[in-house]
Amino acid sequence: MKNLLILLFLVCHIVCFSQEKTGYVRSGNHLPMLGYGLGQDRLGGAKMGYIDSNVILNVIDSTRDLYHVQLSKYHTGYISKNDVSRDSLFKPKPFYLTGSYSVRGGDNKYDTLNISMDERLPYKSWMEISPSRVMLEIYGVQSNTNWITQLQTLKEIKNVYYEQSEDDVVKITIELKHHQHWGYSISYVGKALQIRVKQQPKILDLKKLTVAIDPGHGGTNLGADGLTTKVLEKDYTLKISQAVEKYLTLKGVKVIMTRTADTTFDNKDRAMWLQGLQPDLQLSIHLNSSDRPEVQGVSTYYKHIGFRPLSLAILKQMIPVSTKEYGNIGSFNFTLNAPTDYPNALLEVAFLSNIEEEKKILSPKFHKAIAAQVYKGLVDFLKQAQ
Ligand SMILES: [Zn+2]
Repeated sequence: MKNLLILLFLVCHIVCFSQEKTGYVRSGNHLPMLGYGLGQDRLGGAKMGYIDSNVILNVIDSTRDLYHVQLSKYHTGYISKNDVSRDSLFKPKPFYLTGSYSVRGGDNKYDTLNISMDERLPYKSWMEISPSRVMLEIYGVQSNTNWITQLQTLKEIKNVYYEQSEDDVVKITIELKHHQHWGYSISYVGKALQIRVKQQPKILDLKKLTVAIDPGHGGTNLGADGLTTKVLEKDYTLKISQAVEKYLTLKGVKVIMTRTADTTFDNKDRAMWLQGLQPDLQLSIHLNSSDRPEVQGVSTYYKHIGFRPLSLAILKQMIPVSTKEYGNIGSFNFTLNAPTDYPNALLEVAFLSNIEEEKKILSPKFHKAIAAQVYKGLVDFLKQAQ
């Protein structure tokens, strides 16, 4: 009897264990993110990109809080266990196919590429510049696409074509008409994959655009603190952002603020909220900190290469009012730089951990100076897009 119980326990243990380690899951709806590997830093592992909800993923292994998923024969990725739920009823088909594509424009700010498919399969996208293109890889799929219909109503998409780059990977190239990327969103409509590419605004005038300003931290998320005064980053990102809001509003620009008070607002939730509102541009404002008190300077950050011009334009205008340049940093893994929907950048105004810069940060005069420079930076960004 005792042996039987032990045997039953072992069988159950093996079955339960293997069930947890492998099988099929579907992505949830709280901005699920595919990662490249097990690497971690304070902002999380390097992001392959966000995916839509209900995307089917084949789990091949499991770590403490991540599933290792097989995307195609030669591609794998990692996803947080919190971002998926099991689909135990799912029966994979022997193969999946892409059907016909349609590419159309319109007056609603977007050109749209629709790809008919027979399952919500994982994908990855990225931007290229010179020439400007949106690239997309769909995993675990074979092409059966024999029609790509492209209409003359297109305003941003110049051309769409694909290649079967691997046995089970389809690579799609979306050539853009303008050198500046204005963003794109990818989602499934039923089982069809839809890529909405934002058209360059007809008139490149800041007064015609909506700018999202994102004051870093807030509420229970305090951020860094001042070297001598212990003032909190969350309070000064808000003061600076409000100065920027005031200045832009006076110039006739429509501004959206992710917070206007000392409230807790998770970064992922901010990104999702902004994706819903679809601003034309987004700037996050933070204050930097270092263990070494001598480190100082202004810096701007971007993740997607197509959005680098925004971060550069802001940095160039900030340098004259800063103590020095700390730099322009790319491939940055900050949650609010991850959306591809609209050009976004992060401005780290100065170091709270540096005595000279801490003093500046406390000064309302400096906040006003930053506001004026941010405005000039945005104007310069639009100029280079022409
Ligand atoms: Zn911060």
